[in-house]
Amino acid sequence: SVLRVAIMGLGSYGTRVADAMQSCKRAKLAGVISGTPSKIKNWQKKYNIPEKNCYNYENYDRIKDNPDIDAVYVITPNALHHEAVLRVAAAGKHVICEKPMALNAKEGEEMVAACKKADVKLLVGYRMHFEPNTLELIRMRNEGDFGKIMFFQGLSGFRIGDPNQWRLDKALAGGGSLMDIGIYAINGARYMVGEEPVWVTAQETKTNPVKFKEGVDETIQFQLGFPGGAVASCLSTYNMNYLDRFFLNGEKGFGELQPATGYGPIKGRTHQGPLTEPHVVHQTVQMDEMAGIILDGKKAVVPVDGQEAVKDLKIIDAIYNVCRTGEKQKLEL
Ligand code: NAD
Repeated sequence: SVLRVAIMGLGSYGTRVADAMQSCKRAKLAGVISGTPSKIKNWQKKYNIPEKNCYNYENYDRIKDNPDIDAVYVITPNALHHEAVLRVAAAGKHVICEKPMALNAKEGEEMVAACKKADVKLLVGYRMHFEPNTLELIRMRNEGDFGKIMFFQGLSGFRIGDPNQWRLDKALAGGGSLMDIGIYAINGARYMVGEEPVWVTAQETKTNPVKFKEGVDETIQFQLGFPGGAVASCLSTYNMNYLDRFFLNGEKGFGELQPATGYGPIKGRTHQGPLTEPHVVHQTVQMDEMAGIILDGKKAVVPVDGQEAVKDLKIIDAIYNVCRTGEKQKLEL
C-alpha cells in the first residue's frame, strides 16, 4: 500500500518535498492545505491533485472525512507547527512535521500527547536519519571502528539574506539560527555520538543587532557533555556561508561529514578512507521510509518520532536559558 499525503504550506521546502515525492514508491502527494488559492491551482495542475483533496487553513479539519488522505505533512513557519499538528491529530490523520517540531519542549510534549491520544503517528522531517553516508558512519561507530567516542564537532550555518523573512521574526521562527540550522548540530551530536547528553553550556554572540533583533540569535556556540565522557563542541550561525561540517573522534579513529546536512551529495571520510555511499534525494528516501514506519510499523535506525524531536527541543530550551545565565545546566532527556 501507499501513504497518501497532503502537504500543508506550499512554500520553498514544501515544493522541494512535493517534487521529491514524484519519485517515491511508497508515498504519494494526494492533497494540499494552503491559504493561497492561486498556489493551490498551480499545484493541482502540476501534481494532478483533485479538487476534493484541497483545503485552506479554515476548513482543513474536514480532512477527517476524506478517506483518500492518510497523513498531513506540516511545512509552515515554525510557530505554526503546534496548532497544525493538534488539529491534524484531532482529524484522525497521521502527521509528519518539519523541524523544529515546535518552539519549545512544552509545546512538543503537547503534540506528542495529542497524537498518542488520537492514535496517530507523529514523525519529524529529520531527513539526515535516512542518508546513506550518515548511516554508514553510524554503522562503523556501532561496530567499534572509532573506538570509544570522545569528541564531536558540529558546525551548522549559512548567511541569511532578506531581513524581512519569517526566519528573522521571533513570533514566527521562535528564535534565530539555533531553531533553524543549529538544530542540525544538536540532533547530529546525538546521533553521531550515539548517547543522550547530560549537560550543556552555551555562549551567544551578535554582530548585527539591527538585523538580528531581540530573541533572534545570530550566532551561538554550545557544548554538550555525554555520559560516556564524550564532549560536543558546536556552532550555530546565520552569518557564515557553507558552514556544514560534522566531525567525530574516538580513541581509535575519526569520521567526518562535509557537507553533513545539505541537500547533497553528502561527502565524508574516516581514518580508513572515503565514505562512498551513492547520493540519494533525501526527501524521496525520507518519504518512502516514513511510509514504511507509518503503514508497516517499520523502525528507523535513528528514530524520527515526536519524542525524538522533544529531546532536541529540551536541548534548545536549555541552550537559550544558559545563554542568559552563563551557567552549566543538567539535561534530563
Ligand atoms: P517558506 O517561507 O518558503 O514557506 C512557508 C510556507 O508557509 C509559505 O508557503 C507560506 O505562505 C506559508 N504560511 C502559512 N501561514 C503563514 C504565516 N502565517 N506566515 C508566513 N507564512 C505562512 O519556508 P520554508 O523554507 O518552506 O520552511 C517551512 C518549514 O520547513 C520550516 O519549519 C523550516 O524549518 C522547514 N524546513 C526544513 C528543511 C529540511 O531540510 N528539513 C528545509 C527547509 C525548511
